[in-house]
Amino acid sequence: MLKNLAIRSFGQKLSAITPRATKLLINGQLVNSSSGETLATYNPATEEKICDVQKACQQDVENAVQAARNAFENGSWRRISAYERSRYINKLADLIEQNLDELIILESMDNGKPVSMARALDFGGVLNTFRYYAGIADKIHGSTIPITGRYNCYTRQEPVGVCASIIPWNFPALMLAWKLAPALAAGCTVVLKPAEQTPLTALRIGELILEAGLPEGVVNIVVGDGPSVGRQLAQHHLVDKVAFTGSTEVGYEIMRSSHVNNLKRITLELGGKSPVIINEDADIDNAVAITQFSTFGNSGQSCVAGQRVFVHEKIYDEFLKRAVQACQSQKVGDPLDVDTEYGPVIDNEQFTKIMKHIETAQKEGGKLLTGGKRIGNKGFFIEPALFADLNDDMTIVKEEVFGPVQQVLKFKTLDEAIQRANNTNYGLGAGIISQDCDVINKFIDNVKAGSIYANCYDANDASTPFGGFKDSGIGRELGERGISQYLETKTVIMKKKLK
Ligand code: NAD
Repeated sequence: MLKNLAIRSFGQKLSAITPRATKLLINGQLVNSSSGETLATYNPATEEKICDVQKACQQDVENAVQAARNAFENGSWRRISAYERSRYINKLADLIEQNLDELIILESMDNGKPVSMARALDFGGVLNTFRYYAGIADKIHGSTIPITGRYNCYTRQEPVGVCASIIPWNFPALMLAWKLAPALAAGCTVVLKPAEQTPLTALRIGELILEAGLPEGVVNIVVGDGPSVGRQLAQHHLVDKVAFTGSTEVGYEIMRSSHVNNLKRITLELGGKSPVIINEDADIDNAVAITQFSTFGNSGQSCVAGQRVFVHEKIYDEFLKRAVQACQSQKVGDPLDVDTEYGPVIDNEQFTKIMKHIETAQKEGGKLLTGGKRIGNKGFFIEPALFADLNDDMTIVKEEVFGPVQQVLKFKTLDEAIQRANNTNYGLGAGIISQDCDVINKFIDNVKAGSIYANCYDANDASTPFGGFKDSGIGRELGERGISQYLETKTVIMKKKLK
């Protein structure tokens, strides 16, 4: 069905392109920043500048929020029929699909992710998310309630209002879709702030939003950094809801900012330190394949990355042997080459942070069995790293690494592994690899995480709620739960006069 999602022939290398969309989208217009300021975006594979994009100033953010407020109040979006909203969202999905090659290359250049991954996973998810929520737009409804007395009572589901969507750099277009699609389906209007490191696909999708004909002000896109543009949005009194994906640290900050001027609704998708337990009955090759993906997918820059890998003592040595071989056979390299499995990490700041984690883990007694060195001297490439001989108190086992580093830990009993898996403030994802249903069910019953993966990892879909327990977040995105976070419930009680 998605013809463009097929991975191209092996050996093909796609060419870099010059981005055409560099302007802010405010009130249905592509505009320059009122301050004249721009922001440079860099390719993490080459460290070269890709282009300058317009950088929103305080006045631009003010204009964008006001435009979203006007569009919400004038009813140009929330009052049109749900079928029409659905048609606009599907039209946008069609335009994204028609421009897929360009968008995939932009995402790869801006973020460093391999084009094959951007095509299948990121943009596969983008299209599914827009189409899923296009299908939900006309199925939003309340319920009737048979209350005591002569009353008609029912509930209505109404859009929350103006939403500020603040997104990270690790899945730029996918996170945009996770925020934009349910907001639009619900009838909300949006001011979206991409991460300052990766604005290119959002700006191009902004052009496609205009081409799809959405009414002015319904979607506005402002590029800028977190402490200025992000905070201004989170604090703004005309914003009704903040939807944020990013670090737990900034999540706390958003929570405080969003309650300064009014009581905004918030959804927070934050960090993680997800465990994967490999039971003694697991097929070892399958366990290696699943944990290679859980740890190294997107070069480890995934909130749900399963990097704490607990392996039963009976298969620990054999698992390590095969996992080391798997790490060494991974194809890390040019993201524009369709054969590449893993690209660089996003920038020098993340690169330095990851390298520091690797150094500290060695100082604390961890054994680096493979990888962990810089590849080449251009681009932020790191050899897939695997640590053994770790204990739960080591920094690398406690803190989110957000890079290509697997941490393998040994366990004796399932109860012990579950207790250790839960020994974290995070609770985003958790994996179990076993052929025994009782083992899997015990894990499901006892592990505190928003998503549990049994004999797979990170196999989410547009219809599956996603979010965290504990410090991994508040609320859920995707699925029917996802749209409920963009709706207010209004209860109507109407007196009946006639018998
Ligand atoms: P970040 O928290 O630094 O930034 C995320 C976004 O928030 C960016 O757009 C940034 O500009 C903005 N921001 C920063 N400071 C802000 C402030 N004070 N007020 C308002 N906005 C602000 O995170 P990052 O470095 O872009 O992404 C990596 C982190 O995100 C990791 O910790 C990862 O675990 C987490 N993450 C979580 C999920 C999830 O679904 N739970 C998904 C992706 C990333």
